[in-house]
Amino acid sequence: MAELGFMGIAVPEEYGGAGMDNVCYAIAMEEISRACASTGVIMSVNNSLACDPILKFGSEEIKREYLVPMASGKKLGCFGLTEPGAGSDAGSQKTTAVRDGDFYVVNGTKNFITNAPQADTCVLFTMTDKAKSHKGITAFVVDMKWKGVSLGKHEKKMGIKASATSSIVFEDVRVPAKNRLGNEGDGFKVALSTLDGDGSASPPRRSGSPAPRSRTLSPIRRTGSSSDRRSAISRRSSGCWRTSPPRSTPRDCSHGEPPG
Ligand SMILES: Cc1cc2nc3c(=O)[nH]c(=O)nc-3n(C[C@H](O)[C@H](O)[C@H](O)COP(=O)(O)OP(=O)(O)OC[C@H]3O[C@@H](n4cnc5c(N)ncnc54)[C@H](O)[C@@H]3O)c2cc1C
Repeated sequence: MAELGFMGIAVPEEYGGAGMDNVCYAIAMEEISRACASTGVIMSVNNSLACDPILKFGSEEIKREYLVPMASGKKLGCFGLTEPGAGSDAGSQKTTAVRDGDFYVVNGTKNFITNAPQADTCVLFTMTDKAKSHKGITAFVVDMKWKGVSLGKHEKKMGIKASATSSIVFEDVRVPAKNRLGNEGDGFKVALSTLDGDGSASPPRRSGSPAPRSRTLSPIRRTGSSSDRRSAISRRSSGCWRTSPPRSTPRDCSHGEPPG
């Protein structure tokens, strides 16, 4: 998938992505989800929830350091907004980031985080000013290997099981101030913009998933340039996508069978 440019479809090529647009992203998402819903979720979180906010709100230095490896599929991202007591109401979250010189010290727990067990990087939402509710939220890019970051409860889901979901615990994690996305208090804007963008992936992800197995995704071979990948996706959008015959037995990736 990384070779095909599927981990950063709408990210410009200069930042390691495929340099395509959201229509191409939606088409690819539908086809991948048709073959395996879990793979579609892993891919969409990396594309929409991890790469996109860094592309929109990260400094040039942060884009080079974190976006390039994620968009090129060398590293995997996750998005940490939800907490045990804060789902729809992000303004009631309790994870704090307290400024200490050139760093912020982060403490708190995030819940239901897709890709967390495998992720290298987390787009994390914290409170820098609790009194301001959602206007006191600030977003950061956090390396999952930093001291004080650990995984919590692994969720046993009813479906889409090959996509791992767990909580993440942050204990006195020192996050460089340069890893902030936007200014202090911009976090709610970052979250809403990111979730709006993810909306372009959700319908194709869902419409792809339950489709009859009348056709499956054939690999688009990368022959070197991104224009090859672009033309492969535009062949699909003009109805010329290569198809393969129905399988006799439907696959269930939820139990770990790799897509292909
Ligand atoms: C499989 C899975 C993966 C997830 N992955 C991620 C992830 O990667 N990153 C992340 O940050 N989060 C993730 N989440 C969390 C998800 O975003 C939250 O579950 C969601 O925001 C809802 O929060 P909640 O579960 O606390 O429900 P609540 O906020 O408690 O809502 C429960 C119900 O009440 C309704 N409701 C809430 N407030 C109101 C209101 N004011 N008026 C009317 N109705 C209301 C809601 O619509 C919902 O139906 C994931 C969740 C699941 C199940």
